[in-house]
Amino acid sequence: MDINTGPSNAGAMESQPHTVVTDEMVADFVFCPRFAHLKWVQGESADSGGADSGEAEETRASTSHWLSLTRMSWDALGVSVGIERIEYESGESLPVRTCSVGRAEGATASASDAVALCIQGLVLRANSHLCNAGLLHCEGDGTTIRVSFDEKLLAQAYDAVFKLREMLAEPCAPIPLAGEDKCTDCAYAITCMPDEIAFMEASSRARASLDEDASRQAEVRRLVPARDDRLPLHVQVQGAVISRKDQVVEVRVDGKTASQVRMIDLSQVCVYGNIQVTTQAIRGFCSSNIPVCYFSRGGWFYGITQSTMGKNVLVRMAQYDVVTDPDRALSISRRFVAGKIRNCRTLLRRNCPDCDQTVLSGLSEYADRAISADQMPSLLGIEGAAASAYFGSFGKMLSSGAEFDFKSRNRRPPKDPVNAVLSYLYSMLVKDFTVAAMAAGLDPYAGFYHQPLQGRPALALDLMEEFRPLICDSIAIRLVNTSALKQSDFTSMGDGVAMSDEARRKVIAAYEARLDSLVTHPLFGYSISYRRVLSVQAGLVKRWLLGEIDSYSPFCTR
Ligand code: SF4
Repeated sequence: MDINTGPSNAGAMESQPHTVVTDEMVADFVFCPRFAHLKWVQGESADSGGADSGEAEETRASTSHWLSLTRMSWDALGVSVGIERIEYESGESLPVRTCSVGRAEGATASASDAVALCIQGLVLRANSHLCNAGLLHCEGDGTTIRVSFDEKLLAQAYDAVFKLREMLAEPCAPIPLAGEDKCTDCAYAITCMPDEIAFMEASSRARASLDEDASRQAEVRRLVPARDDRLPLHVQVQGAVISRKDQVVEVRVDGKTASQVRMIDLSQVCVYGNIQVTTQAIRGFCSSNIPVCYFSRGGWFYGITQSTMGKNVLVRMAQYDVVTDPDRALSISRRFVAGKIRNCRTLLRRNCPDCDQTVLSGLSEYADRAISADQMPSLLGIEGAAASAYFGSFGKMLSSGAEFDFKSRNRRPPKDPVNAVLSYLYSMLVKDFTVAAMAAGLDPYAGFYHQPLQGRPALALDLMEEFRPLICDSIAIRLVNTSALKQSDFTSMGDGVAMSDEARRKVIAAYEARLDSLVTHPLFGYSISYRRVLSVQAGLVKRWLLGEIDSYSPFCTR
């Protein structure tokens, strides 16, 4: 092939407008087409600092390599490249690309690195350079691999450009890779959910063919760490000021430093009542994707500051379609409600040995009826009846020696200590599902079961249904039964009761400990923290909205 000649159809392409693609986009596509779609079409953010497609991307983005790129393009092919460095050898130009890992001696470049280099070489040729090879510099061990642009690699590079451009025009992402090792290091694994989607597809096929073994055979790897090492910062001392100096967040009370936390250790900041957050701190939180959640002093969650909404507008469009489609809204609402009723039953069964069996069997029946409810009003009626049966027996889960009893569920304001604790915990869970929904690129205010209402995070309320008993109710029962909370922790205020600062501290600590505790995911079989479970369930809703799975599965423990 002539060194400056493109593919046979390059001339034809010149007359057509086409999307300009970059060498990085092509490298991502060669690594995994779904990865490229999530990143370049859907605008998803990588979940962690894990490996990226070309393995050098993180390095380039964070070092001066990025600043020293030489930008060049070849309009006929519609390709733009950023070349880190060009070396010259016997009249030839060799583009240099860096990857952050080391290669074993004699190892070859990965397909994505080789194609990216080849695309750079093609652009150099189009700009009158003689170029037949490139160099891949491996930062890990300092080795350099020479990549020759032979016929096979050139064909692969052209093919990748054409197929990438076709894929960019598609609104739906390609299906995930099946069982590939590369998924274990992929920074998009939490968003992508490759094994979870494969498992749910296999389950759905198994149900259709009544072949139960088919779903059992699908193995689900836990592709993310079991726990999130970062933790929330809760600040409830009135008058406190949260500021930031470089990468350290400082909380000052009465002008004195009360605590200091590194930004990288923070997952979110929760402020209660009159707490000041400086502009510098807000800027740092936004740029590090750390949401700031605002509560009233009494624990009412009323707002959030987040960098920007997720870039994936397609998922929000799909969400609004379902909000306005009564059949689809009902189909997912049934699952939220049935999941909640099943978990209420489980909590009662575990914590109330002398619980009336008719209540337990009644809850089973309500769960079955919820899953086949044919209208939203019937579903609401079933949920109301189940809640009445459940809270009618809730007091029996409190030990006889406890300082508090429970007669019925009440709120706004809660009229007794147990209801005050429940309301406070529900508010914290709404906040965490608001954060999880936003992280998944969903609109937390557009619900399917809870109707959209000004200022109400309806989707967060939908998502939390099945977790109310598992997280909030179980914490309240434990705090009461272990006498962690005393009568002196509560004061009467008008019609209701309010918790002391000390009681709130205990409730927050118990809540965070619960979210940090490990649980086996009932569907996927891996062990993760409840905090991660919230993200997984929000991710399942998203995958359902995008048509990648047939139905949402609620999180139900046994
Ligand atoms: S997790 Fe696997 S399938 Fe998903 S984007 Fe990454 S490499 Fe592709």
